[in-house]
Amino acid sequence: MSNERHPRRGVLLIVASPSGAGKTSLCRRLMADHGGLELSISMTTRGIRPGEVADRDYHFVDDAEFQRLVDADAFLEWADVHGARYGSPRAPIDRALSEGRDVLFDIDWQGARDIAVKCPEDAVRVFILPPSLEELRRRLVTRSQDADEVIERRIQNAKGEIEHCGDFDYVFVNDDFDRSYAELAHIYHAERSRRFRNIWIDAYKDALLNEAV
Ligand code: 5GP
Repeated sequence: MSNERHPRRGVLLIVASPSGAGKTSLCRRLMADHGGLELSISMTTRGIRPGEVADRDYHFVDDAEFQRLVDADAFLEWADVHGARYGSPRAPIDRALSEGRDVLFDIDWQGARDIAVKCPEDAVRVFILPPSLEELRRRLVTRSQDADEVIERRIQNAKGEIEHCGDFDYVFVNDDFDRSYAELAHIYHAERSRRFRNIWIDAYKDALLNEAV
């Protein structure tokens, strides 16, 4: 954002949804439109999919390396999701927050819960619902990056994830990309504007009150 003011306290914007609800496309667009927003690139033990780029979409690691990082307390949170392990590396998040930058997380409900417990002031949790499970299946099949049994497992897992949407700060249905994007961007803008995140306002206010008029 061009009118950035400092110092400020960054937002940890956590976006969760069942696979196929459109979360990744919405997050990519939010990133593209907001230069100051940094994506937390997760580590995962799952295999790379066609079209994915290592270290852009995920840092792909084996089980031993993931466990080494767990033992070294290198994750802000980590969880088992769909039979693989996923974690949010702590160092880039700490760096961004200390510099007043915002971080976007494309993670599951478990990660959202854990970050909200560890960083209750900074975390903002958004859950995106699919219009229906049938539509979710259609999107997963169209994406066709996964084998049939993986898609079936993800649909069953989706029900488990949807159960947790009540714990989130914001919940909306992604039945139209542009409308959903506007909703997500509004949430982000409003959260950025919250008084307690904008520490610079104290000095700014004093300067205004001391202005010779
Ligand atoms: P996928 O394998 O489809 O990329 O991701 C499967 C699920 O894992 C998605 O819901 C995704 O948001 C979630 N996920 C990705 N990275 C992380 C992470 O670092 N932590 C947690 N808890 N979930 C993650």
